[in-house]
Amino acid sequence: MSTISKDLSPDSSPGYRPGAACPCGRGVSYAECCAPLHRGAPAESVEALMRSRFTAFVLHQEDYLRWTWHPDTCPVEMGLADATDWKRLEVLDDGQQQGEGERPLSGWVHFRATFKERGRWQCLEEVSNFTLLNGRWVYVDGDAQVMSLKPGRNDACPCGSGRKLKKCCAQ
Ligand SMILES: [Zn+2]
Ligand SMILES: [Zn+2]
Repeated sequence: MSTISKDLSPDSSPGYRPGAACPCGRGVSYAECCAPLHRGAPAESVEALMRSRFTAFVLHQEDYLRWTWHPDTCPVEMGLADATDWKRLEVLDDGQQQGEGERPLSGWVHFRATFKERGRWQCLEEVSNFTLLNGRWVYVDGDAQVMSLKPGRNDACPCGSGRKLKKCCAQ
């Protein structure tokens, strides 16, 4: 399978507005950023794939998440929770290696994802591992830690807007 057969129509996803900034935080519109990948364009780097998967979590695009998940590790139940409100993605570091001989390329991305769940701010920090499968990047597994955040109302909003929490996501 080299393309996604059905259009994933993210326009119908909650919270999505055409032309809005891409949820992955690169600072360009969704149409110019993760949308082409969600329609089947190959990710040119592990970072691009990781960003597109974060956006797919935000937009609840389960088909895309399965398509970019190694079949050996992809869960039967995705468990995308409406209660999880993804706020921010920060890619801290990434890299990829040429394997020996016939072995495929592998890659990794170290990232931090901030979200709010049932009124509580949390932060997931993970090093994700990726491999090339039939010429395209797929997610294999990751080493993750989840931490609670306790921002004060006068602190910088954890969503990364640069505004104080009380003037941003607390409203
Ligand atoms: Zn994006
Ligand atoms: Zn905010």
